[in-house]
Amino acid sequence: MIRFRLALAPLAACLVLTCSAAWAQAPQAAMQAPAAAVVALVDGTVVAIDGGPALQNAVVLVEGDRISKIGAANTVTVPPHAKVISMKGKWLIPGLMNMHVHLGLRLPGAAGAELINESDREQVLRMASNARLSLLSGTTTLRLVGEDRGNDFVLRAAIEKGEVIGPRLKTAGGVIVPTGGHGDTEADGPYGLAKATREQIKLGADWIKIAISGGIADTHGSISAAPMTDEEMKVLIEVAHRNGIKVTAHNGSSVAAHQAMQFGIDGFEHGYHLDESVLKEMKSKGVWLVPTIVVSQPGAREFYKKIGSPPWYLARVDSTGKDHWAMLQNAIKLGVNIALGTDQFPFEPNGGTTATVAEAELYVKAGMTPLQALQSATTQCAKMMGVEADLGRLQPGKYADIVAVEADPTKDISALRTIDFVMKGGVVYRNDSAPLLPTS
Ligand SMILES: [Zn+2]
Repeated sequence: MIRFRLALAPLAACLVLTCSAAWAQAPQAAMQAPAAAVVALVDGTVVAIDGGPALQNAVVLVEGDRISKIGAANTVTVPPHAKVISMKGKWLIPGLMNMHVHLGLRLPGAAGAELINESDREQVLRMASNARLSLLSGTTTLRLVGEDRGNDFVLRAAIEKGEVIGPRLKTAGGVIVPTGGHGDTEADGPYGLAKATREQIKLGADWIKIAISGGIADTHGSISAAPMTDEEMKVLIEVAHRNGIKVTAHNGSSVAAHQAMQFGIDGFEHGYHLDESVLKEMKSKGVWLVPTIVVSQPGAREFYKKIGSPPWYLARVDSTGKDHWAMLQNAIKLGVNIALGTDQFPFEPNGGTTATVAEAELYVKAGMTPLQALQSATTQCAKMMGVEADLGRLQPGKYADIVAVEADPTKDISALRTIDFVMKGGVVYRNDSAPLLPTS
């Protein structure tokens, strides 16, 4: 049973401060903004996310939604009004990021069939619930790479306004595909695809997601095929880039990969069957890979069983798994840029932990060091999304998105299984060590 405490207290405290300040002041006196709440995380160990020795007996000061100071206890003064939270015995890391998520995910099978008549209202509530569970599981930032009704834009705004509890969201909106492709936003010909791209950007897409090969969940089309024409791909990518938006492609095909890299694609999702020549070109051009390795490996079996996946689907998973694993090992060996993503809900049970943690464990099994795997879920994601100034590291000035675990994840990545504290933007959303009610 997960115990957590929702920190609504800071909001209440602000309201009280504002009211009492108004009462105490003469009408002509200038209104003073209430001081930002200060939280001090003390006695913990801060992991050095860029390598090197960890900072022991650390104090992390959080003012408002950002980190203001980090240092050894004898170098940082905790202000008397700070709320002090003990991190004794815990290791602090940046909030995890998951770069391949669909909060409205529906897959073939019994569970998907139940959602066939899901209304927009039902879907947005289901997505909000999945967002909340994602945050509580330790992922403080998600990149959504394909939602089908624009509900992702509504949810992103509601989370930003504090109306809904969830991770920071970046979203690609709908998946743009030629007719019959692996996605819902169909368009054909260079200018049809250009228009679809502009429409997603107009709706508020942070990224553009396209599908340039088939997928596991398709009943038709080969994963290795490359159905888009050069002209279509070139114009689509050019339009996105002219708007300052990056493009990532669902892709399992080496032919489609070489084609897309010719026109400046920024990243590939899955990469099931990508061969060495593709991976080398990705490395030299800095093209990102978001592996989603959990979906094709044995740990996902319990999930497919739970959602009632049909036999044809399981056969496609099996036929993909071996190539997918070899591709990942190769990509790690060649030093391709990898950002962690799961294609399952970040909190989805997988191999006795969550999909996010299982994905990181598989990266280590495939050749990464534990530190590299941790970076793939933090600094690498921030770099890929161009948000390094705000996210990905525990440093003064960055958002206070902080997760705590009970052992050193740079020694053993499975320490991520013990996530028991989650802070986002200075607000504690989960702290299993703290009692739910005052004990004295
Ligand atoms: Zn996906």
